[in-house]
Amino acid sequence: MQKYQKSRKKTGNKSRLFCHTWLHITHYSLIITHHLALSSTTNNFLGTGTSSGVPMVACHCEVCTSTNNKDKRLRSSILVQSPATTLVIDSGPDFRQQMLTHQVDKLDAILFTHSHKDHIAGLDDVRAYNYFQQKPMDVYATEATLKRIKVEFDYAFADIKYAGVPSIQLHSLNEEDAFSVGDMKVQPIPVWHMYMPVIGFRIGDFTYITDANRIEDSAKEKIKGSKVLVLNALRKEKHISHFSLQEALDLADELEVPEVYLIHLSHQMGLHDIVSQQLPPGRFLAYDGLKIQIP
Ligand SMILES: [Zn+2]
Ligand SMILES: [Zn+2]
Ligand SMILES: [Zn+2]
Repeated sequence: MQKYQKSRKKTGNKSRLFCHTWLHITHYSLIITHHLALSSTTNNFLGTGTSSGVPMVACHCEVCTSTNNKDKRLRSSILVQSPATTLVIDSGPDFRQQMLTHQVDKLDAILFTHSHKDHIAGLDDVRAYNYFQQKPMDVYATEATLKRIKVEFDYAFADIKYAGVPSIQLHSLNEEDAFSVGDMKVQPIPVWHMYMPVIGFRIGDFTYITDANRIEDSAKEKIKGSKVLVLNALRKEKHISHFSLQEALDLADELEVPEVYLIHLSHQMGLHDIVSQQLPPGRFLAYDGLKIQIP
């Protein structure tokens, strides 16, 4: 069995065992305790899969046919809830199902990382929130992503709109400047997805980065000090636009973040339970429905 451990290998066994036992016991509620909290949120992984989701249509590999719920991954998105504010990062093709599954009756905003279809395709379903909240959905993204959204959902931005189209309030974010959504302060973190700029988000001690394969030093500085980092890792083999498992683990160590959850996983990553056993302490494959508390 290949071990994805480097410097931590010698000292890791005991605490790894502890972490997994702990995860097993708490199941849907992993509490992360620390003392320098800036913002208290409950974060719920709505989807942890790559663009095709897991299982992948028409695939009969051992991961796609696994009966373990942790091997069933909707497209990547996370729900972030503070006492006053609820937002999601990305609304992919599974957005409606994710909102129903987690009974999200109130949604204040959507933050977009980039305009790839697996991150924006579900935006039309904000219509339900338009109806019940009686206001447009606040959407935050860079100018480049907003431009693509206006093309992909052109009917929502037409001068003369068909009745019942989604109502969306666009907010342009600058990749350098922090902004507020309700009671949350959000720091954008620019990263690279091959040659495409993507935005990660830091909210207090929590940083979420998807669809990246390169991070510049200036952006790394903005991640440092986070207590919890979510990072994309597509599979074990190298990929042109996503971190591989080893690249993500190396970056996590370089950034010295104590708790790291990997997302945007392909069926090629392997079975959740097998790969999880190979990870160093403090590094986890996320799974759909995993909830973490950021005090
Ligand atoms: Zn993606
Ligand atoms: Zn498969
Ligand atoms: Zn992408």
